[in-house]
Amino acid sequence: MYVHRWSDGSAIDLPVGKVVCIGRNYAEHAQELNNPIPKQPLLFIKPMTALTSMQPSWMIPENQGVVHHELELALLIGERLSKTDSDEAMSSIQGVGLGLDLTLRDVQEQLKHKGQPWERAKAFDGSCPMSEFVALRSIADVDKLSLSLMVNSEQRQSGCVADMIVPLEPLMQHICQTFTLLPGDIVLTGTPAGVGPVVVNDSLSLRLFDDRKTYLQLDTRVAQ
Ligand code: ZN
Repeated sequence: MYVHRWSDGSAIDLPVGKVVCIGRNYAEHAQELNNPIPKQPLLFIKPMTALTSMQPSWMIPENQGVVHHELELALLIGERLSKTDSDEAMSSIQGVGLGLDLTLRDVQEQLKHKGQPWERAKAFDGSCPMSEFVALRSIADVDKLSLSLMVNSEQRQSGCVADMIVPLEPLMQHICQTFTLLPGDIVLTGTPAGVGPVVVNDSLSLRLFDDRKTYLQLDTRVAQ
């Protein structure tokens, strides 16, 4: 069963909660799927049953069309946050990691076409493989973080927090107007351009870094 962990492998003393996600938070990614840039943040939720440990491997649904990887910066919430516009929004974050917002792209296209909710495409069991976390206090400046993903040694996605349409602090303030964030919840902050398919036996390498340091580097695999 999934538990939040620090990058040394130790369990984090927080419950496992919901995952609040933002869609289209990087302009180049919105363009690659021919989606307009939303006027207000596009929010959706994955339930706790979506979470699964990134390592050593995770599974994808069978016979439901193309599965896309969306690499995203993940924020682990340490303190309750509700309806605030203050800078406590950022101090409620306890850790930072990398998550995959797995998306059944064919299913999502059908749902969009019919004007139906996205849950079948994005909130299924195991739809959120999650890395271990790094303490926020050990990161020099969270707004200068970069993230990258290689699949089978080929560069697929890279992005910088600085390129987000809605930066982290206003994003947290916006989310908690609608969804109270509780200790153990996770916020996924949107995916940069370069989303693409993953299939069984693919090897993925993920990295979270800034210009001085690599905070997380991990290899994982799509299991049979
Ligand atoms: Zn996403």
